Amino acid sequence: MKPTKSAPSNSSHGGSLPPLWGRARHLIGWQGMTLCVPTDWNPGKVAGNREKGDVRVDDPDGARIEIRWETPKNEVNIEKTVDNFISSLAKDAKKQKRPFESRGDLNLVSKHKKGKKRLVSFGWTSDTSGAAPCGYGVAWSCEHCKRVVVAHLLGQNHEAPRRVERVAQEILQSLDCDGHGGWDTWSAFELQLDIPEEFPIARSQMLVSKLDLEWVRPKPIGLYGWGRRAERIRVQRFPVANVLLEGKPLDEWADWNIAFKNKGLSLSRRDDETMELNGHECLVYRGPVRDPRARLSILFFDLILRRRTPQTRVLVWQCEESNRIFAFESEMSAVNEHIPGDVLASFDCH
Ligand SMILES: [Zn+2]
Ligand SMILES: [Zn+2]
Repeated sequence: MKPTKSAPSNSSHGGSLPPLWGRARHLIGWQGMTLCVPTDWNPGKVAGNREKGDVRVDDPDGARIEIRWETPKNEVNIEKTVDNFISSLAKDAKKQKRPFESRGDLNLVSKHKKGKKRLVSFGWTSDTSGAAPCGYGVAWSCEHCKRVVVAHLLGQNHEAPRRVERVAQEILQSLDCDGHGGWDTWSAFELQLDIPEEFPIARSQMLVSKLDLEWVRPKPIGLYGWGRRAERIRVQRFPVANVLLEGKPLDEWADWNIAFKNKGLSLSRRDDETMELNGHECLVYRGPVRDPRARLSILFFDLILRRRTPQTRVLVWQCEESNRIFAFESEMSAVNEHIPGDVLASFDCH
């Protein structure tokens, strides 16, 4: 099993007190970025891709931290980027006739600890008449993933800047922009799993009623890609399983909601196949693509290239502990058939 990043426990070691005043934390993972935040903070907005994008993490009262990244072609002057950012904030404050003070003396995140040669901490304070009374952040350029990362944490009007600064230090210290061994940890709303970097995210629906995430690796170019489809991993999570099922068995629910409603695949339940996951018994669905031309093309090229394209598989299980239903869909080429198992090994449903 691959090493999985997880939120550090709140237990104290060697007599030191737990950080963040003992608030429970969890991991947020998105596009190779990971950070530890209080458990009621989750992504409020996500945009872009691994090369350029951003994620905003909100708490129940509003925006808390925004992380932006970009992969510039040429070297970027981090100090100047931060100066420009602070200047634009100062200008906005002036327009609103609010006080503004930049904090140039901050050292929120240690360059040495982060392993980033070019790293700048920043901070500012204002009054409580605007959206935020203060903000603290860090910017760096990463030699490993080649990205420039800027993270900015905002205080709320009921919080003292001194306290926000400490919280920012804790959270920004935990921020990391590199996956591990070609894998990224994706984590939000208590769903955490590892996905190979080569599978960009293609769908990210995060609703109260349903979580639906899909990662798609485009089909290879040239002979190897003939008649192939893109490789995919898709996870769906449905809350309040007991209400959804209304006392009916899971297979009845899944036949309709997972198999019948799947637009791309013609799925049927394989009652002869059993699989156990995290202590839950899974329903196994398999089936070819619905589009007859695509199906024919796969058959044809499998035959002439003497290869075998594994059938798409969907696992469905009910997690009694979390009262949720999960569906895990995977479509892989034969050489990558181990990937769904590796992903599932990193996946904890409860
Ligand atoms: Zn990086
Ligand atoms: Zn479970």
